Amino acid sequence: MLPLKSARVTYVYGVKNGRYAKVYHTGIDLASAETSVYAAVSGTILEARYAPGNGADPAGWGNYVILRTLDHRYDIINAHLADVQVSQGLTVDEGTLLGKMGSTGNSTGPHLHFEVRKTPWIDRDDIDPASFLGIYNRVGQVEKVSSTSIKNIVLCHPGPDERAAGYLADCLKAPICYLANTTQELLHLAERVYVIGSSEKAFAKTVNIVGADRYDTCRKVLDICQRE
Ligand SMILES: [Zn+2]
Repeated sequence: MLPLKSARVTYVYGVKNGRYAKVYHTGIDLASAETSVYAAVSGTILEARYAPGNGADPAGWGNYVILRTLDHRYDIINAHLADVQVSQGLTVDEGTLLGKMGSTGNSTGPHLHFEVRKTPWIDRDDIDPASFLGIYNRVGQVEKVSSTSIKNIVLCHPGPDERAAGYLADCLKAPICYLANTTQELLHLAERVYVIGSSEKAFAKTVNIVGADRYDTCRKVLDICQRE
């Protein structure tokens, strides 16, 4: 679950910024009028305390809680808390109250600095916390990726392949888009991406439908429509 309810993203992951040790923002900043901070997943409390001063982590985090996932793969850092309401060594369920959002440590205003690192956290091997939470890494009201996911997208170049692509899109009830106009962000929403009449790999989940000629491409599209 999300660590804050009704949250906004105020500062995204990966922004270049010289004030950080890795020269980019290694977490995502969230803020909310509802200040309870919850365990994003079940895990054990690795650390729950106050870190004074500035300098190498955890200095600057103020009141912070590090939650280690039950599979021991990730350490989740919750920093700048107003207070800490769990203690080290505790095993907690997802949704357990960890503390209140605050502005302790090296912070310019109330927010939660949420960061996910591969264990052990001290090695600073951060991963994209937005992907971890299943939300978009962009400023504004938190938006879940899964809430807008779609099954199929059909892509082609403008021209004669549009007819076969349009037929497949109708049959799959899928949106159709020109290859040149797609973004990775759009394609990430789809379970499968069909590219008609071109062998370009638009995306990891691309299925290319290319025949020996245009007639052959149409025939392959018809085969898929009959299967679906
Ligand atoms: Zn931050």
